[in-house]
Amino acid sequence: MRAMVLEAYDTPLKLRDLPVPRPGPREALVKVSACGAGLTLHHALRGTNPVTLPAIVGHEIFGEVVELGSAAEGIAVGDKVTLYCIVHCGHCRFCRTGRESVCIDSPGMIGNVRHGGYAEYMTAPDKNLLKLPPRLLERYTPAEIAPICDAMATPFKVARKSRLAPLETCVVYGAAGGVGIHMLDVIRLAGARIIAVDRGEAKLKALEKLGAHEVIDAAKVDVPAEVMRLTGGLGADVVADYVGSRETLEKGLACLGKGGRLVIVGLTANAVPSYAAGLVMRNEIEILGSRGFTRQEVLDCLELSALGHLRPVVNHVLPLEQANEATALVAGEGNVGRVVLTM
Ligand SMILES: [Zn+2]
Repeated sequence: MRAMVLEAYDTPLKLRDLPVPRPGPREALVKVSACGAGLTLHHALRGTNPVTLPAIVGHEIFGEVVELGSAAEGIAVGDKVTLYCIVHCGHCRFCRTGRESVCIDSPGMIGNVRHGGYAEYMTAPDKNLLKLPPRLLERYTPAEIAPICDAMATPFKVARKSRLAPLETCVVYGAAGGVGIHMLDVIRLAGARIIAVDRGEAKLKALEKLGAHEVIDAAKVDVPAEVMRLTGGLGADVVADYVGSRETLEKGLACLGKGGRLVIVGLTANAVPSYAAGLVMRNEIEILGSRGFTRQEVLDCLELSALGHLRPVVNHVLPLEQANEATALVAGEGNVGRVVLTM
């Protein structure tokens, strides 16, 4: 099979011809037809989010089950599937209560700790494969469906975690990126007001077109001051930070009003923000971390997309062999929405 392989950090992926993998007893073999390319992969390729080398990255897949392991359950040959990408034990107290993203035994994600979807075939545990609703298959292409399991499920979890309610105001830092952009529909579904923050006129125009009620160019104005102006001095109820830099985390906190919630979603390995504890106490601010999504949240996003309430935003579809070009697009300044590879 053709696969794009990472052999060493900070080197281009190489096109390799590898044997089709064999599924273990509780696994299935999937023929991959599309795989999303996001910042998580960009971090994996640079080694800032370590992977087991040589690696086949990729965890936002659309595929078809073509072979079952001897004891695989819950799926059948011919099923069209996507991935719940977090490897989880299935029996710790977090897994048992639907919080697989903090499973105590999780070694990481498919595509990081085992081979993922930048290939024509991949294997996955049966409990990580989710059958797609028929209505979703009618509504969207494989390239549009592939990123739902991460790029849409991540903001969906943010809205739930922050208890975003109708008529509240939600500020999105990094709103034009592949994940942030899917927060717009999630906020609209919650009945809240969308203030989208990013840099550059082209991105802000795209965000307006996708339904942001207000947009702020972080390269031009002071974001907290502008949020205060737009909210009549009350501040935002929720800030979702998809950037995760020291600057966005500190300014994000400053955007919040009383009872506000800051959700940290972006990869924040080196960011050490400082904040006034007195302000957090007096205003009853909550600072929340959100890692990925639960299995049920992915299922919910598939169903909400099938119903047309959430829309995948995919702006570049490239063949597998152009995985390096996809990485460059994702890491570049001008990208709006998701980049997807097709086999
Ligand atoms: Zn577990």
